[in-house]
Amino acid sequence: MKKQKPKKNKPKKADIYLDYASATPISKPVEAAMVAAAGLFANPGGIHAKAIEARKAVLAARTTIAKLIDARPEEIVFTASATESNSLALRGAVDAWKKNYPAETPEVIISAIEHPSVIEMANMLEDSGVRVIRIAVDEYGTIDLSELKSMLSKNTVLISVMQANNEIGTIEPIDAVAKTIRHYKKEINSLDYPLIHVDATQAFQYLPVRIVKPEVDLLTLSSGKIYGPRGVALLFVRNNIPFFPIMPGGGQERGRRGGTEATQLIIGFRKAMEDAVMLRNKESKRLQKILDAGIRELAKKIPQAKLLGHPTHRLPNNLCFSVPNIESDYLVLALSAKNIYASSRSSCKSEVDDDTMLDSHVILAIGGNPTDGTIRLSFGRGTTERDVKRAIDVAASAIALSAEYSHANKA
Ligand code: PMP
Repeated sequence: MKKQKPKKNKPKKADIYLDYASATPISKPVEAAMVAAAGLFANPGGIHAKAIEARKAVLAARTTIAKLIDARPEEIVFTASATESNSLALRGAVDAWKKNYPAETPEVIISAIEHPSVIEMANMLEDSGVRVIRIAVDEYGTIDLSELKSMLSKNTVLISVMQANNEIGTIEPIDAVAKTIRHYKKEINSLDYPLIHVDATQAFQYLPVRIVKPEVDLLTLSSGKIYGPRGVALLFVRNNIPFFPIMPGGGQERGRRGGTEATQLIIGFRKAMEDAVMLRNKESKRLQKILDAGIRELAKKIPQAKLLGHPTHRLPNNLCFSVPNIESDYLVLALSAKNIYASSRSSCKSEVDDDTMLDSHVILAIGGNPTDGTIRLSFGRGTTERDVKRAIDVAASAIALSAEYSHANKA
């Protein structure tokens, strides 16, 4: 048989992935941790030796995860997604309040730019008689604290504010929110209410996320955004807060969320959290430099572009901008044609099929023009300054081409 010549490894045209806020790949160390845990398949709820082995592994992961956010192991409720955690936070708190005060109308406060998993659950609660107050944000997407103060009442069950926004990257003043609530609780002499829920899904990689300072009662984190496996997330539920399970099932997670524990995914999540904390400062600094260079490049190559979100209080991995008179999807597809992968906005609402398809509640809340095209470049561990410059170059060419085309059509 003829010996085959080894094929020359031609370098493949490199993909540039700039959509890390939508999804991260599973990192090699996380993958290795999960493969090593393959033998731990027994149901952790059983009493035989294999089950106990799995139970111990879940407890060890739970303990490490809890420590990373200064919580106690029993305060961690594993769920399947950030969406589930957010839904559980809102409904679990409201149902407990309803049980204790059946004759009163509960109130929930959310920011206008929360993730749809919070907004839609709040809408559902509203349909069932809950009063929902949506706090406005300024042009940078920062919540209006004075409005928050004026909206608090003795019927406020919960206030839900995200630590950082997924579309525009703005970091919210969680400390100030917590302080406002603390003062209000003192004023009305209330031990439990209002509760604070923080969705820290996008923040965890780049910001300190703790439940002590500021003191929060409920907190959402997800594995699939931090190089862990998708299909596992958590809700921190502070001990002794009034909370009602919405999915009791077989009594797992102390009766707060039934369903056999996903041992392997939980082990992957723990490794992802450990690594994210370890890399947090270094990656934040590295990406901040890339972001600053990207913002400068944007001003040079696409001067008509407008940076969305706060100019400084923003996640270092988010470069979101709008451009007048262009379709967002056209830009995403033009980039994709050159192997550059970004989002026109949050990927989460891409299936909305009515006239509002291109409307983002976040862009509208910050007073953005819905006819502008919006693009989000979100960076991650594989991103270099060159990648971002290349993406801006390609976007600039696509914008110039579109302008030429519409000019020619008008002529
Ligand atoms: N909250 C935030 C801030 C998010 O960015 C996302 C995902 N884009 C979610 C919640 C929901 O995550 P999932 O779709 O994985 O449930």
